[in-house]
Amino acid sequence: MLYLQGKSLPAAAPAVIPASADNWGLSFPNEGQSPVGNASAEDLARYNAWFLGDTSEKVIYLTFDCGYENGYTEQILDALKKHNAPAAFFVVGNMIETAPDIIRRMAEEGHIVGNHTFHHPDMSAISDQAAFQKELDSLADLYQETTGKALPHFYRPPQGKYSEENLKQAQALGYKTVFWSLAYVDWYVDNQPTAE
Ligand SMILES: [Zn+2]
Repeated sequence: MLYLQGKSLPAAAPAVIPASADNWGLSFPNEGQSPVGNASAEDLARYNAWFLGDTSEKVIYLTFDCGYENGYTEQILDALKKHNAPAAFFVVGNMIETAPDIIRRMAEEGHIVGNHTFHHPDMSAISDQAAFQKELDSLADLYQETTGKALPHFYRPPQGKYSEENLKQAQALGYKTVFWSLAYVDWYVDNQPTAE
């Protein structure tokens, strides 16, 4: 529920997402507490957008963004299988085109494969519904051709860049928009901690 001056806002209240929140960001003000996003969970929920689950439950949702195959995904799938832990993989067109067997394995082993757009553009720069839909539909179509299954309707904005309009656009297409509450910065491949 979103409260303003002691009253709950009607669901149709406009512009609840701050204009500054065009790039998903988090702060961690209180140790042991959920992080704070630059849009609140309550505001995002109006658009079926999420970055936290039910915080009264000790459940972690593992999500992976897959732009390209760097040789580790099968090991990750092995580990998830060993621990019977389903995860979500947000994939782009390049990943499906270059590693279709891995995508099929994700689907067969019960993971969610979600939509990270076909070309990984800055979607916040796209306000046209048809252009927005094309990025998502082309990825979903390629997934269907590759696996024979319909793509689950979960959407992760590339780089976390989004606009309130994008949240509406994704919702109109039946997608849940999924941000994150902690990111492991693995894309700097030369700047990683040791195994220890
Ligand atoms: Zn990405």
